[in-house]
Amino acid sequence: MTIKRNLYGLDRGQLEALFQEIGLQAFRGRQMMKWIYHQGITDFTAMTDLPLSARQWLAESCCLELPQIHERFLSKDGTVKWLLHVAAGDLVEMVLIPDKGRNTLCVSSQVGCVLDCSFCSTGKQGFNGNLSAQEIVGQIAIANAYLAAKSEVVTNVVLMGMGEPLLNFDPMLAATNIMIDDHAFGLSKRRVTVSTAGVVPGIQKLQQHTDVSLAISLHAPTDELRNVLVPINKKYPIAELMDACREYVEHLGPARKLVIEYTLMRGVNDQTQHAKALAKLLSSLRCKVNLIPFNPFPGSGYERPIDSDIYAFQTLLMKAGFVTLVRTTRGDDINAACGQLVGMVDDRTRRQSRYRQRLAQQISAVEVV
Ligand code: SAH
Repeated sequence: MTIKRNLYGLDRGQLEALFQEIGLQAFRGRQMMKWIYHQGITDFTAMTDLPLSARQWLAESCCLELPQIHERFLSKDGTVKWLLHVAAGDLVEMVLIPDKGRNTLCVSSQVGCVLDCSFCSTGKQGFNGNLSAQEIVGQIAIANAYLAAKSEVVTNVVLMGMGEPLLNFDPMLAATNIMIDDHAFGLSKRRVTVSTAGVVPGIQKLQQHTDVSLAISLHAPTDELRNVLVPINKKYPIAELMDACREYVEHLGPARKLVIEYTLMRGVNDQTQHAKALAKLLSSLRCKVNLIPFNPFPGSGYERPIDSDIYAFQTLLMKAGFVTLVRTTRGDDINAACGQLVGMVDDRTRRQSRYRQRLAQQISAVEVV
């Protein structure tokens, strides 16, 4: 039996190329996108404006499949978390955060993560594989199907779930292209945010291909501290990261800002001297700051800061002229808060031994492209 090609997750250029390969005009690809993403149709034979022969060929050789839902959890605050089956094996998580008319979807890009940030539970499970474009963008379709009952849709997407999106570059790019394409989900590029722990070559490559919003998970104002919290900093230290950020924000144009994410950990990076150093470091970058009080998980070794320290940190940055928000914790009764996403990965030991090797491979893969 031949395996059917899953067309879900092909971006406009890829779908146009597919139709040209079978001897049809490129605009057929755009027609098909509307069926898939605007109408939610997955049966090729129902795509009535495509030539009959093309519909037959598509039905025989292609399919449109979304990740299978393993389980769904509802928080008392309205947050929804899904566990999804993906081809790389295991499960990934995605989280929908409804808030004052916005529906923000926090999307995963990898099963586990190679980066091993010391305070993130996803990193603790090691790395087990990349999601395909269809598995990334399919998360939006699943959330939209859920929201349809309320006549709502996903309004914002953040790639802040499991994984490092810039280390799964091509599928991530195809997925974000579909998110912002008017023939597909039609989200504003301002409302699609790629979040990175600081993979500098990935930021530079992103700039060559798109202008979606960018968030940097900074967490420390000095290399000494960041090397401990975000080990990829040893490869791409803060000065290099800041250069890449300045270039990216120039590329976004004067009306847009970068987002700096800073997870506050008690006694580690939440004191006045850290806030002052951060304000100085960011003074030449057009950005706003999101402070994320640490969300605990068993064995993390870190604690959430006391409220007065969070407030003092925020006040200092605001006085220095930065728009600074403290992110409220959502969905912690269903373990859906930032850094609590772990999916369910078995066989962690074997993975742990493999993942340092994969880290090296992944980083060099980004460097050569
Ligand atoms: N790898 C990407 C995207 C995933 S992390 C990145 O690093 O940006 C999404 C955000 O949650 C990051 O800013 C991350 O540092 C933060 N985070 C991770 N663990 C956390 C925790 N336990 N508490 C609060 N924030 C956390």
